Amino acid sequence: EPEREAVRRKVSGSLYVGNTGAIASHYNARPEVGVEHRELSPIIGLKKFNNWIKSVLIGKFAYRRRNGPGANVLDLGCGKGGDLNKWKQAHIRLYVGLDIATTSIEQAEERYRKLGNRAGFDGYFYASDCFANPISDVLPPDLAQEDLYDNVTMQFCMHYAFENASKARMMMENVSRYLRPGGVLIGTIPDADLLLDRLHSIPEDAEDLRFGNSCYYVRFNERRHKGLYGHEYRFYLTDAVEDVPEYLVDWKNFVALAAEYRLRLIYKKPFHSVLEEEQSSRDFGPLLGKMGVLDHNGHSAMDADQWEAASECHLLSRRRA
Ligand code: SAM
Repeated sequence: EPEREAVRRKVSGSLYVGNTGAIASHYNARPEVGVEHRELSPIIGLKKFNNWIKSVLIGKFAYRRRNGPGANVLDLGCGKGGDLNKWKQAHIRLYVGLDIATTSIEQAEERYRKLGNRAGFDGYFYASDCFANPISDVLPPDLAQEDLYDNVTMQFCMHYAFENASKARMMMENVSRYLRPGGVLIGTIPDADLLLDRLHSIPEDAEDLRFGNSCYYVRFNERRHKGLYGHEYRFYLTDAVEDVPEYLVDWKNFVALAAEYRLRLIYKKPFHSVLEEEQSSRDFGPLLGKMGVLDHNGHSAMDADQWEAASECHLLSRRRA
C-alpha cells in the first residue's frame, strides 16, 4: 500500500501522524454543553437514537459475568464518556476509557467523578492515539494485562483508523491483545456501501461531490475508488462534527482483518433494522420512551433529515476461544 507521506505536527505535546491532528483538534474544540443545553440541539432526536442503539448493543451483547464481580470494559475513542451510564446499567466492575482528544478525556473523567459511588465501578481515563500507538504506552501495567477485558467498545470512531493499513492493524492489535477469549468487541461505523451508492448517484458533470440535507453532508474529493484504505471523505453533522476527515471502511476487508486477529463476526445490522427488531421488545422497547427517542405520543423525535443521517451500521465480534 502506498503510504501517504506522513505529515507530522506537534500539537500540545503529542505527535500526530497524517490527519489525526485535524481529528483531535476538532473533538477537542467541541464544548461540553450540559444536559439542558443538549436538549436544544437541532439533532437531539438523532443523538438520542444513537444512544438508544448503543444501549441495545450493550444490553444485548456485552459480556456479563454470571457470578462474582462485574465485567471489565475497555472503551477506545470514548470521547466525553457519553456511555458511562450505559455501562453502569450493565453492572460492570472496571471501565478504562481512552481518546486522542485530551479535552474530551478530561470531560469524561469529570463525568465519572460526578457519578461518585453511584457508578459502582472503577474508572480510568487516558489520552492516547489508539490507532497509532500501543495502548500499553499510556496504561499502567495492571490495566494493560493481556486478556483483561471482557468487552472492548469503539463507538463511532473505528472508521478513523482506516486512513491506512498500519493504523487499522494497530487498532486491531489494541483490541485483540486485551480482549479475553470469548470476550466481545462492540463497534459502530458508517455504512461505506451506502456512502458509495450516494457518491455514484451524483451526476457525472457535478464538480462538488457532495450529498446530504439540512443536518449533514458528506463530501468526497474524487469519484475513483481508492482501495481498501485511505478513501477519505469529509463529514459534517450539525452541532456535532464539523467537516472532519473520515475514511470508508471496506466491510469485507474489515472482516478479513478482524479474523487475522482472532475475531469473528457475530452480528451486523443497519440501525433502522435494529429499531424495527427491538422497538417492541420487552427489554428495549420501553427504553425508546425513557431515552426520549419517542415522545409521549409515540412519535419519533427525529425528523426525516436526521433519520437519513442515521445511516450507520454496527458490528460486533467475539474473540475466538
Ligand atoms: N465513542 C464516543 C461516543 O460514542 O460518544 C465518541 C464518538 S466521537 C464521534 C469519535 C471519537 O473518536 C472522538 O472522541 C475522537 O477524538 C475519537 N478518536 C478519533 N481518532 C482517534 C484515535 N486515533 N485514537 C483515539 N480516539 C480517537
